[in-house]
Amino acid sequence: MDQFDTRAIQHLDSAHYLHPFTDFKDLRGRGARVIVRGEGIYIWDSEGNKILDAMSGLWCVNAGYGRTRIADAVYRQMQTLPFYNSFFNTTNVPAVQLATRLSQLAPPGFERVFFTGSGSEANDTNLRIVRRYWDLMGYTGRHVVISRHNAYHGSTVAAASLGGMAGMHAQGGLPIPGIEHIVQPNWYESGQGLSEEEFGLQAAQALETKIREIGADKVAAFIAEPIQGAGGVIIPPSTYWPEIQRICRKYDILLIADEVISGFGRLGAWFGSTALGIEPDLITFAKGVTSGYVPMGGVLVGQRVGEVLVEQGGEFAHGFTYSGHPVACAAALENLAIMEEEKLPAQVANDTGPYLKERFAQLQDHPLVGYANSFGFVAGLNLVQAKGRTPHDNRSFAPARQVGMTCRAHMFNNGVVMRAVGDRMIVAPPLIMTKADIDEMLARIRQSLDDTLAELQKE
Ligand SMILES: *Cc1c(COP(=O)(O)O)cnc(C)c1O
Repeated sequence: MDQFDTRAIQHLDSAHYLHPFTDFKDLRGRGARVIVRGEGIYIWDSEGNKILDAMSGLWCVNAGYGRTRIADAVYRQMQTLPFYNSFFNTTNVPAVQLATRLSQLAPPGFERVFFTGSGSEANDTNLRIVRRYWDLMGYTGRHVVISRHNAYHGSTVAAASLGGMAGMHAQGGLPIPGIEHIVQPNWYESGQGLSEEEFGLQAAQALETKIREIGADKVAAFIAEPIQGAGGVIIPPSTYWPEIQRICRKYDILLIADEVISGFGRLGAWFGSTALGIEPDLITFAKGVTSGYVPMGGVLVGQRVGEVLVEQGGEFAHGFTYSGHPVACAAALENLAIMEEEKLPAQVANDTGPYLKERFAQLQDHPLVGYANSFGFVAGLNLVQAKGRTPHDNRSFAPARQVGMTCRAHMFNNGVVMRAVGDRMIVAPPLIMTKADIDEMLARIRQSLDDTLAELQKE
């Protein structure tokens, strides 16, 4: 195996490489962990540590690491046609094949695809599309998009504005005008005194209140992740989505499902909308479409919007150099073939997803775990100082203590990657995990919780 001079790499890293969402100075002090290799559900760092990647990279390596089939498909495509654009009445074969394949896998009515290079660009595209749609329909005042606090829709100016991350909005004068936010369906944090079902209805009805406040004749669309990912794996109560759907229909508002995480098997179906019974007009995708092997994103456009854009639209003045990039499309096609042959969405729905749910719920007997839940192959748990009779009686740690980061460090030391969102620890494992892999992951998580507790008790 290759030898790496970790210190030298870390030095060059902090001298030249500005990382995403990173306190650069803080990172310089500690030095980044250097990841050098991946195989299956594991990654290796430059010191030779083998780590179980329970986050699938960044919610994207759904088919696992080391898929030579994808590498071969990319290599073949690069030798044949590494790039050509789709701007001026030209196309390429992998892009046509992928658009066709995606329309077959998508829920009924999604016949058309607009390709981008990332999830953020796809949500920028959504903003352009929904405003264009209403302009073409003759409602030029319908330009407002409603989103939710603590949503994540990406990091470009439009996508960060659509998102509801306070820390992002605090930098650079965001959100841009024309984007409004409502409450998130976070029962654990905000559902005090209400059943999950009652709270779900109430959180959804905030959409109706907001539409009335703005005026339905000004609202273009509502955008949401079926299950919030980066916000901390917030699984909405079962009453939430049907009520959102009812309100969108009542006021004739377009519904955008941001499936960048929930798509491609993560929730036990090709699309999370299917798993949760949502009927959107537009679907954002990225991440899992290529299992992260090559950057790619896009928007699946449903019948209602697609007909208008195509039949009445004239030129749509929007697109990217890398829209429909042949190499990215070749990677996606091979990745989807693997997922289909190995029946990964069904495996998550019927076999490993239910097992993860059962095993993850058992963590609730740990003294640090105040609440644990999962859906398909996303799961999260809240670290608490003391447990109450109900989740709403739990006592939280002081935020300044950053218990989540302490716990995350123990996870790494015990060879498992878990992400901390405040004091909520989350996972989104590769979909190829077997039940034995889940057992191994849970053993490492439990050990890390014990180590975190021991550290807290020493203080
Ligand atoms: C990651 C993510 C995005 C942004 O995708 P990028 O490829 O990082 O631009 C958008 N929406 C959701 C739900 C995401 O998780």
